[in-house]
Amino acid sequence: MTTVHHDPFLEVQNHLTKAATRLNLSGVVTKRLLVADNIRNEKLKIKTEKGTVELDAYRIQYNNARGPYKGGIRFHPAADESEVTALAATMSVKCAVVDIPFGGAKGGVVCDPKQYTEKDLEKISRAYVQSFLPYLGIDVDIPAPDVYTTPQIMAWMLDEFEKATGANSPAFITGKPVALGGSLGRDTATAQGAVYVLDEYLKLGDKNATPLRVAIQGFGNAGATVAKLLVAKGMLIVSVADSQGTITNQAGLDVFALERHRVSGKSLNEFVSPGENDTYSDSTSVLVTECDVLIPAALDNAVTQANASQIKARVILELANNPVSSEAEAILIEKGIDIIPDVLVNAGGVVVSYYEWVQNRQQWYWDEQTVGERLETKMRKAFTEVLEKKTETTSYREAAYELGVSRLAQAIKLRGNF
Ligand code: NAD
Repeated sequence: MTTVHHDPFLEVQNHLTKAATRLNLSGVVTKRLLVADNIRNEKLKIKTEKGTVELDAYRIQYNNARGPYKGGIRFHPAADESEVTALAATMSVKCAVVDIPFGGAKGGVVCDPKQYTEKDLEKISRAYVQSFLPYLGIDVDIPAPDVYTTPQIMAWMLDEFEKATGANSPAFITGKPVALGGSLGRDTATAQGAVYVLDEYLKLGDKNATPLRVAIQGFGNAGATVAKLLVAKGMLIVSVADSQGTITNQAGLDVFALERHRVSGKSLNEFVSPGENDTYSDSTSVLVTECDVLIPAALDNAVTQANASQIKARVILELANNPVSSEAEAILIEKGIDIIPDVLVNAGGVVVSYYEWVQNRQQWYWDEQTVGERLETKMRKAFTEVLEKKTETTSYREAAYELGVSRLAQAIKLRGNF
């Protein structure tokens, strides 16, 4: 088999081009959809406890036709311009799919956060805000957490922004701790949104009496939360993986014990299993475990042409961003496996980020039930609207892109600045 060079942004551009063709968009509008408004790259010079390092940092502002740029910041050694631009483009489509008044952006710092102390991470977070300060702001570009960035990191970033501007501005960043103006329900929103989407999808199929078996790659904020929520709905979590390894048990794992282990800061391969039938394997084996639903909840390009044909799930729920490559998607569709796409599945995170921003601006805070009800309505509606676009011959991804891109294109056309 020939190895295909993976270019994440090219993959997203292909999805955008296909949607633009189906929607009959003009050349100028299509061109606006295919390029980022601003690609910003800075070097962060940090005096860490082990010495001075220089880290590459990105803020890619993709499109703001529908509202201010919006998107998380990831701290990861593999973050690069193509990956961050792909994520920024995906954000633009996602915000349009769930119809919230935001554009799309994404940020990244090329670093391995596990190599740094808490003090170093604080310096990196503050330096990021200092470097991109002229381009950020509550009506301009609003960051949030992503892979390996936390509410604490959002708190440092907010503090740095407020020190620089001299004004209290909680709406500058979302995913903050509740004590600093974060929204109730934001920590579980991404996973909860995915659960509503899965629920709507399952309504379409045969009623299956046996509990659904779920495998989850990635046991962080999104993956661990979705595991707990699905157990509460009576599903069996048969396999979970983090970057160090996979734990599998076809009779169902104790995800609450695994979660307690995770929050103590340890990897899954250090977990001492109380269940005799739990088995341990490398981090990739989760993808090919016997299951009904596979949930990639780690990084992009997890399901590739190298492993797609071995996948046994009936449906893939993309909780991570861009986890399935185009080559893999073609193999999976051929096998009759549905892929419910990231731009719909994980949009609950940005939906509650939007609610957080609204609450900050109104200085009027909602209770958790209100946040939850509004999230549920939004996610179920988005699924229905995607389904309305879907035909016999189009995939869920194509339908979701068609929905998002049509809204984005409408805003671009109305603005008319070509
Ligand atoms: P996180 O940092 O909390 O967790 C990431 C998890 O992935 C960790 O358990 C890590 O060990 C695991 N992981 C990393 N590399 C792996 C590998 N090679 N194999 C198996 N596991 C691996 O991050 P998160 O916030 O949960 O984000 C996960 C995914 O969800 C990302 O794609 C992110 O963009 C997407 N997402 C997150 C949110 C959110 O609100 N947190 C919103 C939308 C999308």
